[in-house]
Amino acid sequence: MIQISEPEERNRTFRVGPIRPPSEADSLLLQVTNGCTWNKCRFCTIYKDTTFKAFSADSVKQDIDTIAAYAQQVRAYRSLAGLWDIDGLNEHLSRLVSDEERQCFYMVANWLLRDGENVFLQDGNTTALSSGRLSDVLIYLKQVFPQIKRITSYGRAENLSRHDAAYFAELKEAGLDRIHSGYESGSDEVLQLINKGVTSEQEIRAGRNIKAGGIELSIYFMPGIGGKDLTVQNSEGTARVIREVQPDFLRIRTAAIKPGTELYGMYESGDYSLCSDDDKVREIRRVIELTEGVTTTLVSDHMVNLLQEVNGSLSGNPGDSDRAEMLQLIDDYFAMPETDRRVFQLLRRTLRAYSPSDLENLTAAQWQQLRDAVRDDPPDVWDAKMNDYICRYI
Ligand code: SF4
Repeated sequence: MIQISEPEERNRTFRVGPIRPPSEADSLLLQVTNGCTWNKCRFCTIYKDTTFKAFSADSVKQDIDTIAAYAQQVRAYRSLAGLWDIDGLNEHLSRLVSDEERQCFYMVANWLLRDGENVFLQDGNTTALSSGRLSDVLIYLKQVFPQIKRITSYGRAENLSRHDAAYFAELKEAGLDRIHSGYESGSDEVLQLINKGVTSEQEIRAGRNIKAGGIELSIYFMPGIGGKDLTVQNSEGTARVIREVQPDFLRIRTAAIKPGTELYGMYESGDYSLCSDDDKVREIRRVIELTEGVTTTLVSDHMVNLLQEVNGSLSGNPGDSDRAEMLQLIDDYFAMPETDRRVFQLLRRTLRAYSPSDLENLTAAQWQQLRDAVRDDPPDVWDAKMNDYICRYI
């Protein structure tokens, strides 16, 4: 039985880092580290002003105790029948003194109202910690909150590649269920271009060991990150890594080249050409083509992706494969004339359409107006415009 100290003896707030995967939107966020151990990827600005710090197990446990105190307060507003007194929760929230306390109470309430079963460990590279320190935190977390069913974390591929399957098996035993890793590409040329600090062989080794240790693996692929010069390498290299590793999930994160990044500087100086939306969709199609039979599920769960409906199992097994449907969605998109693809890109990037099928709702007058608005831009100008739009979403 875990002893939890009384509220007045405990810190009033707990730490929360800046990012989490979209699939962890309903998860409790528990910060175990701050920042990223690498911090040199040429497309990334998230932790540019943050020096990496790993918190001690005692310090994280103190945060867990603080969360437990908030959970106790929140649960007081649930009836024996399991119904929540939302007005009471809101009234409690309004009585809290500081913004930080309100944020902490809100996060715990939001988590418990959504079953309180999933936790995401932040920040960018939690698995830089020794398995002992991480296991200590995981075990304590599950003791304090026995209802937890899934604990996940980010891990940087190069760092993950230094650990063997036994390391991951120990973390699995302690409670870690899934690792999210931003592979971005499986092409060594692209990985060098973006200064990812990892090779495709390290990605494969890391992925295989994670899976052998019994932990689910969710990797991220960035269509278009290699620019026009490396668009073929990006898709074919990534497909090779997927075939070798067979991650549980392949999550699509369409490349957005943000002003202020090194890659954007290379674009401005003419050393990097932005991929078009069509290039990026072609890369996804090629990856699907080249990965038939893997046990991976392709997931499109971010608004930067153009064709959100391209989702599903990559296995070629009749009955459980979505390959044909995904390829058909892409082929239907390319069957549209280029001007109409631009119309869809514009509407999608400005959140006025979700799927190409939404274009069926446009009137003849709207079509005319939109086609006139998009057709004259030269390709490089259009591609830069679309890049600007998606940069707003990251
Ligand atoms: S490893 Fe991830 S968090 Fe770190 S710099 Fe690269 S993209 Fe950013």
